[in-house]
Amino acid sequence: MVRDLSQRMDICSVNTATLGFQAPIGETIDAIAEAGFGMISPWRRDTKDLDVSAVARHIRDAGLKLSGYCRSPYIPAVTTEKYRANIEENKRAIDDAATLGAPVFIMVVGSLPEGSKDIEAARRQVREACSELVSYGRNVGVKIGLEPLHPVYAADRSCLTLLSEALDWCDSIEGAAATPQIGVIIDCYHVWWDPTLHRAIKRAGEARRIFGFHVCDWLVPTTDVLNDRGMMGDGIIDIRLIRSQLEASGYQGAVEVEIFSAANWWKRPVKEILHICRERFQTAT
Ligand code: ZN
Repeated sequence: MVRDLSQRMDICSVNTATLGFQAPIGETIDAIAEAGFGMISPWRRDTKDLDVSAVARHIRDAGLKLSGYCRSPYIPAVTTEKYRANIEENKRAIDDAATLGAPVFIMVVGSLPEGSKDIEAARRQVREACSELVSYGRNVGVKIGLEPLHPVYAADRSCLTLLSEALDWCDSIEGAAATPQIGVIIDCYHVWWDPTLHRAIKRAGEARRIFGFHVCDWLVPTTDVLNDRGMMGDGIIDIRLIRSQLEASGYQGAVEVEIFSAANWWKRPVKEILHICRERFQTAT
């Protein structure tokens, strides 16, 4: 049996990208709380040039908790200087995650830097950087969540494409741990097609490494692989099945809606998007 989300609005989270960044973060926080959601997942662009501790206070005062903080600057680089700078930039973002009270920092790791064809080098850099960031995060109380992306993004956004591969990296970076500091973010959009998905979810659950669950849908046809994601229920992903597999493996955390939809949802009023998200959490998630 899956959790009844109509009774669990406390774990239903809205990733602010879903609302198309139409309003400043203060208004967005209030709108999400008013719509009855218990959690929020902001982006770095939401807090850019703002006093992050004031944003943290606003989130707390609205009665919301954070399910995560999005997302890492890309890691791979051709020069050592740029690679080190990318790691430092990630540390500053992890500091902000700590100030906000986010339990986990979401990592979309990047892939081939300009001019490179060496994807294995990119993967090596990411693994090496992550072991440094795990230690850094531990000291400030923020866990690291690796989000494998759909292979369509392998060239530019993520050299990490498989859930099983993300778990291999966690094991090699941290080893078995009672309270893991590095884990995975499972986003339906990126992993639904993977024939080894169920096995990988079980493995992730056993290792206590599921740090987040993102939902949206895969539309047929998809007109833009980046910005044409669907509302839950409008596409071909069996989201309920994936959620049931996560929960059977022990996952008790947030369910977070994250929809990039430039031509459709982002053009609608924030209130309407939130209303439909809430309904689809119950009927199609
Ligand atoms: Zn995601």
